[in-house]
Amino acid sequence: MTAPSFDTLPAPVRALATGDVGAFAAPFAAAGFMVATPARGVLTIRTAAAHAARPAVLLSVGVHGDETGPIEIIAWILDALAQAPRELAVDLMVCVAHVDAIAAGRRFIDADLNRMFRTTRHDLVNTVEAARADELVAATAAFFDASGPMRLHLDLHTAIRASRYPAFALVPALVAQPARDALVAWLGTAGTEAVILNPTPGGTYSYWTAAQHGAAASTVELGRVGALGGNDLVRFDAAHRAVAALLRGRPRTEGPAPLVFDTVRTITKLSPGFSMRAGRDTANFTPLHKGDVTATDGGTVYMVEQEGEYLVFPNPDVRVGLRAGIVVRRRGA
Ligand SMILES: [Zn+2]
Repeated sequence: MTAPSFDTLPAPVRALATGDVGAFAAPFAAAGFMVATPARGVLTIRTAAAHAARPAVLLSVGVHGDETGPIEIIAWILDALAQAPRELAVDLMVCVAHVDAIAAGRRFIDADLNRMFRTTRHDLVNTVEAARADELVAATAAFFDASGPMRLHLDLHTAIRASRYPAFALVPALVAQPARDALVAWLGTAGTEAVILNPTPGGTYSYWTAAQHGAAASTVELGRVGALGGNDLVRFDAAHRAVAALLRGRPRTEGPAPLVFDTVRTITKLSPGFSMRAGRDTANFTPLHKGDVTATDGGTVYMVEQEGEYLVFPNPDVRVGLRAGIVVRRRGA
C-alpha cells in the first residue's frame, strides 16, 4: 500500500488525519473552555469548573491507520461544533490514535496498536505501538481522572472484511448496568445492528478504559475500510448524527435496538502449528454448525458445541498468544 497524499483533502479532514488537533482548538478556547493537546493527536476540551454531572466523552479514531472513515466523520463533527462551540455539552477528548500509521496508509507500523493496552507486552515491548500506547494510556488517565462518574469511550473503527451486520460493536462485559443498557441503546441509534459482549481484555483500547477508568466503552465497527477522502460518508450517516447529538448533550433515543451476542469462546493462537479453516476473507458473523472444527492448535481442538454460534474476526495469521477469532451466540437464543 502506498502512503496516501493528504494535499487534496478538505482542511478539517487533513488536520485530523495528520494529528494536527490544535487546528480545532481556537474557537473552543475563545468560548471559555480549557483546551489542551496533552499528546500528539490528542485534544481535550473541558469546562473551567469541574461539573460532576457533565459527562466525559472520549472519541478515538485511527487506532488502525487504514481505517479512515471515522477520521472523516469526527473531522466534520468537530468542524461543525467549532462554529457554535458553546453547544458542546460534555468534557471531550478526541484521540487520533496512530498518526504514523495513518500517514503511511497502513494498519500499523510494527504491531497491532489495539493489542497494546495491557501491562505486559512481551516481545512487543520495543515496538512503535507500545510507545504510542504508553502516551495514550497517560493522556487517557489524565482525562478521566479529572472527570465525573459519567464516562463514555467510543473507539471508532471500520472492518477489514464483509459482515452479516455491516455495523457492529464490541462492549466489554464488565461495563456495569445501567450504563451498559444505555450504551447499547445509543449504539442502535448510531446504526449498529449487533453488539457483542466481550469478557476478554485482549489489549484493546476500549477494554482498557472500561477496566481502568469505569468508562462505558465500545469498539465500534462502522463498515468497510475506504481510502481517506474517498469514504462513502452516507453509510456512516447514522453514526455521524448520533455522535454529533451526543456531544451537544442530546443523546438520541430512536432507532432499532441492536441484537446482543454473548462471547461463547475466544480462540487464541497458542502455537505456530495453529490451523483454522476460516481466514481473513471470511465474513464476520459467519454461521457455524454443531460438530464443525473451527481451529486446531497442537492437541487443542476448537469444536462447535451447539447450533446458533457465529464466528467473528477470524484471523489465523495473528502472532502466537493473540486472539485468532471469537465465537458468539445470540443472547437468549
Ligand atoms: Zn480496526
